[in-house]
Amino acid sequence: MLTWIQGEIVENKQWCTDLFSLKIKIDPLKFKAGQFAMVGLDIDDKLVHRPYSVINTPQDSLLEIHFNTFEKSYLTTELANLKSGDAIHVADRLNGLLTLDQVPDVPHLWLFATGTGIGPFISILNTAEPWQRFEKIILCYSVKTVKEMAYRADLEQLKSRYPDQFCFVPFVTREKSPDTINARITTYLESGELEKRVGLQLSPELTHIMLCGNSRMLEEATMQLENKGLRRHTRREPGHIATEKYY
Ligand SMILES: Cc1cc2nc3c(=O)[nH]c(=O)nc-3n(C[C@H](O)[C@H](O)[C@H](O)COP(=O)(O)OP(=O)(O)OC[C@H]3O[C@@H](n4cnc5c(N)ncnc54)[C@H](O)[C@@H]3O)c2cc1C
Repeated sequence: MLTWIQGEIVENKQWCTDLFSLKIKIDPLKFKAGQFAMVGLDIDDKLVHRPYSVINTPQDSLLEIHFNTFEKSYLTTELANLKSGDAIHVADRLNGLLTLDQVPDVPHLWLFATGTGIGPFISILNTAEPWQRFEKIILCYSVKTVKEMAYRADLEQLKSRYPDQFCFVPFVTREKSPDTINARITTYLESGELEKRVGLQLSPELTHIMLCGNSRMLEEATMQLENKGLRRHTRREPGHIATEKYY
């Protein structure tokens, strides 16, 4: 059973037509960077709720979520209309295993995100732990158009802060733009260009990889990684690939 607490919208940031982030004032919630919250609204006398990754770190005072609307989307269409001062429900227990306590000690942490799947990685990368634990952190972030690349400024800032440790590889699939790769992550991975560009090998001895976003990317990338000898990671059977599927 979920226990709901009420929060208040502090900010609704619109990145582009169909992409938003909400900041929510709420009593402090206990969670680990990378986890998701159940978020809900009263719609037609019913509490409609869905899971959303938390963008902020456990130390931050405001809860932040990031989402997109799409044709016939139900809850997100309503979330997109929220204004400062509006009420929102959040379940008091957060969940999810896309967290660093699930990651063994390896030199290289790779992160693959499509669209709003960047959420858990923003939270994780804004904590101290990954920078203390991994020699190299490689983030591949893919969106359709440049304006959909939310949180890019934060990621560029991390790149300036950790120039030798952080490798940020932005992908934009449906238009060409400077400093981004005009291909899907999986196309670039399969051709071997990703490892060449980053200058590191994806191998079971060196790598742990977290994937977040749509099922197509997760399935294709997992298959390609398995061809390189990496295995799915579970708590019972430690491996190298951890995934979180949004839809
Ligand atoms: C663990 C977890 C964490 C998640 N975190 C996030 C997050 O941080 N941000 C986020 O935006 N979403 C996230 N999602 C997806 C989210 O929970 C909702 O499914 C999504 O927002 C759609 O809800 P809706 O009510 O607007 O649409 P619905 O009316 O429920 O959508 C109908 C169908 O559309 C498809 N769909 C779902 N999401 C999308 C999408 N983005 N684009 C196109 N089709 C889609 C699905 O097949 C779904 O069944 C997460 C899902 C899971 C399981």
